Amino acid sequence: MLKSGSEYLESLRDGRRVFIGSEQVEDVTEHEAFRNAARSFAMIYDMKSAPENRDVMSFEEDGDRFSSYFLMPKTHDDLVKRMETHRRIAEWSHGLLGRSPDHVSSFVTGLAMKPTMFEEIGEGFGDNIVNYYKYMRANDIFACYTVLPPQGARKPELYEREGMTVPTLRVTDEDDNGVTLNGMKMLGTSAIFSNETWVGNLLPLAPNQERESITCAVPLNDQGVSIWSRKPLEKYAVTEFDNPLSYRFDESDAMVIFEDVKVPWEKVFVHNNTEMSRGIYVQSPSHSMGNHQSNIRFHEKLKLIIGIAHKIVTANGAGHIPAVQGILGGLAAQEAALEAIIQGQLQNPEVMVDGYLNINQRYMYAALYWCTTNYSKICDVVRDLMGGGPFQMPADISVVDDPVMKETFEKYWSVPGQSAIDRMKLYKLAWDLIGSEFAGRHIQYERFYAGPSFVVTNYSYLNAPWDAFDGLVDDILEGYDAGGAS
Ligand SMILES: Cc1cc2nc3c(=O)[nH]c(=O)nc-3n(C[C@H](O)[C@H](O)[C@H](O)COP(=O)(O)OP(=O)(O)OC[C@H]3O[C@@H](n4cnc5c(N)ncnc54)[C@H](O)[C@@H]3O)c2cc1C
Repeated sequence: MLKSGSEYLESLRDGRRVFIGSEQVEDVTEHEAFRNAARSFAMIYDMKSAPENRDVMSFEEDGDRFSSYFLMPKTHDDLVKRMETHRRIAEWSHGLLGRSPDHVSSFVTGLAMKPTMFEEIGEGFGDNIVNYYKYMRANDIFACYTVLPPQGARKPELYEREGMTVPTLRVTDEDDNGVTLNGMKMLGTSAIFSNETWVGNLLPLAPNQERESITCAVPLNDQGVSIWSRKPLEKYAVTEFDNPLSYRFDESDAMVIFEDVKVPWEKVFVHNNTEMSRGIYVQSPSHSMGNHQSNIRFHEKLKLIIGIAHKIVTANGAGHIPAVQGILGGLAAQEAALEAIIQGQLQNPEVMVDGYLNINQRYMYAALYWCTTNYSKICDVVRDLMGGGPFQMPADISVVDDPVMKETFEKYWSVPGQSAIDRMKLYKLAWDLIGSEFAGRHIQYERFYAGPSFVVTNYSYLNAPWDAFDGLVDDILEGYDAGGAS
């Protein structure tokens, strides 16, 4: 089933417990901190079903229609369909919604392509993952994931405390019906706008952390679940004109707390298995399918950043200078290189699970590395190009409410070919993307959403063809011996 935007919004009015500081939010779809972002997600639901997108962004199976991010790819055309689906969603949201509905869905789809792996973890877990996947796609479920322990809970002295409240999420009880969870998980981007959270561990656990290895799905309105939002930036956007991106696209990040939350066995996928709690993602197409979406989403954002850079140098009268054009050319070259790494993932696909085709993992991890290490450098280049431009502008657009001030503003701030208001509009947009608190959150997001840098490089290390690289060296070394020196 393809959900409409209004059905999606209705699904969020489910009694979930969301907090901003001490304030409990009644309805996230109407609250001043979240309503516009909720509508941005709803827009994705409506647009993907629109006649011009429906064929690409959905597929038919068993007489029903599902979103293409649930498609299990078997052919090159399937990979193209998935890629274009991610691209359109990212384009509509300017790459600013990292955890759009296609992210975790892709993770789950990749997991459900390998049910045998789950059957080895626990009897019935193979059926559980397939059924959960079917449930998600049948109901067009939007899931976030909370797959990290909170920072304070990393030390063994903390998580080994028996009989005491421990911060990191773990199984505290189990019976015939399922498991009981207590603790907290970091950091649910889009949790406020999702129907469910996927709970698990993307970083390795210590062997004695069996109870923390629980991997399951939890509806975000479940009894005992509460969602503690970070500062919501939409609430502090002065107007759409002044903070056009914070105003509409703050996807939010939140800690998710679980207090005596009951999870039925049907929604448990890993239990008491520290190795596979992380292993499931990298031993199946899951991690590469989810992060392929991240690559594509980043690319759409990069295109916007470069557009802003180009418009800014035109507005500040520096666009004709060869040195400035050289900087823009460097940015454009990087954008083209990223697009090539993404396209290459489809040109050189690989088989991870018999019967299915997967994107090229090494190229995907190369793009992930490139994106996480270059985002703030690119933003820095654009900051350089902006100079003091954003701070030339008045505090906010209320300046035009006063006719005399409006006239003065036009008189001094306009330049040939561009009105003062148009210049202000551009600089406000640029600042929201590159310099505002919203922009600062994005710098942190792009650096950490796939884990810290040593984890991101480790994916490329583990997937590199070291034998082939070593062989090149050995071939040369074997071509001569010590005798050659005499
Ligand atoms: C905006 C944002 C959104 C996020 N969204 C989600 C989400 O939706 N779901 C989710 O589950 N998580 C999410 N995260 C969490 C994210 O996965 C973690 O922030 C990330 O894995 C890093 O963990 P940490 O923040 O605990 O930092 P830490 O692990 O405490 O690391 C802090 C610093 O110490 C360094 N460091 C720590 N240990 C080592 C080591 N052994 N060797 C070398 N250096 C080390 C790290 O490189 C890093 O620079 C999000 C994070 C951010 C910032």
